[in-house]
Amino acid sequence: MIIKPKIRSNFFANAHPIGCREFVKQQIDEAKAQPKFKGPKNVLIIGGSSGYGLASRIALAYGADANTVNVSFETGPVKNRTGTAGWWNNKFFLNFAKETQNIHKDFNGDAFTKALKEDVIKYIKETLGTIDLVVYSLASPVRINEITNELVRSQIKTLGEPAVGQTIDIAKKVLLPLTVEPATEQEVEDTVFVMGGEDWKNWMMVLEQHNALSEGVKTISYTYIGGPTTEKIYRKGTLGKAKQDLEDTAETLNQHLASNFQGEALISSSKAVATKASVFIPQMPIYASCLYEVMIAHHQHESILEHKYRLFKDMVYGSGRILDDAKRIRIDHKEMEHEIQHKTLDLMKNCDEKRLFSLHGTKVFLRDVYQLNGFDFDTVDYDQDVDIDALAKQI
Ligand code: NAD
Repeated sequence: MIIKPKIRSNFFANAHPIGCREFVKQQIDEAKAQPKFKGPKNVLIIGGSSGYGLASRIALAYGADANTVNVSFETGPVKNRTGTAGWWNNKFFLNFAKETQNIHKDFNGDAFTKALKEDVIKYIKETLGTIDLVVYSLASPVRINEITNELVRSQIKTLGEPAVGQTIDIAKKVLLPLTVEPATEQEVEDTVFVMGGEDWKNWMMVLEQHNALSEGVKTISYTYIGGPTTEKIYRKGTLGKAKQDLEDTAETLNQHLASNFQGEALISSSKAVATKASVFIPQMPIYASCLYEVMIAHHQHESILEHKYRLFKDMVYGSGRILDDAKRIRIDHKEMEHEIQHKTLDLMKNCDEKRLFSLHGTKVFLRDVYQLNGFDFDTVDYDQDVDIDALAKQI
């Protein structure tokens, strides 16, 4: 099968397996180029097949020689469908990571359910004993309510007034108008249910009940704060409500882990990167492109792997932790620097469509969006036929 990007309504409907291998390999190569650090031995990552969860897994597996258990929800190839990028990322990670000679295990299923939690914990008890670090990096549009059996949906919406702005049409590479409407109270509640802290707390409780947490255990989840460009939709929108709930959960978990395990629960505010969701947030792709332009010019730009590597090496296990008043780890401090923010906002103000698409930062942002699904790697021949079934069997 010759695989070219299939993009519908700014959403990738396919992935390129060879490109996904390249995506994982590049991050592993970046991790190998960094100095090792003393970190956790046994790590559980919820949402480790892509984005920040995958980068965390690679940073910990290669930087700290950790064993990793990953829980993600991905679809494998069927007939003429390629399967999701995360499915291939998992396969290739496990294949490459044999070289670490440590234990790496994947669970593919719904992390929100009790049944999957039980399966994962059974494996942990039998294989690793206890967990030293739980990374909760789940991003999901839906969560099943196991009491009512209802499927609850999260929404990227504003509170009060609509957000009017633009996004990038990633197929045509032009600007598109994008308006996001305000959420109803029910939609806010649903988004908090899906993306808030309850499921994180459930994981920690079940792990504790099964004596699967080590003395000194740490857990971490990721939030985004950002600047004025995206706050209406992000920090002051439905996602912000969910993140506030996540942050409140961290506080409760932190007190509990500190008194019972001498451990801690952490929230880290990560920098803006290209994700599946970024093109659905008005102004986010434009902000991220201009931010990339400025940060590259200031030699402050980091890849997703470098960002997470620095988080664990310096701020979770090292002595260079930067905290804000709400005790959140501010690994996003480079993005939030006054000069970087000022120059980014200035560039956005003076950027028409033609200039935006001529920026190196925009090219890097768009390349990152394509690479999330295995496209746009110079090292991959996209005219080459891919035998997906054979490849899936082989790895
Ligand atoms: P992503 O979409 O790349 O990855 C989400 C992961 O969750 C995948 O592994 C997916 O398989 C898994 N998942 C989804 N539903 C699941 C389910 N029901 N059961 C099991 N696994 C499931 O996400 P990302 O962009 O890396 O975001 C991860 C976290 O980081 C989120 O909390 C997000 O808000 C936060 N964050 C992202 C950014 C950013 O700019 N990307 C910035 C700061 C914080």
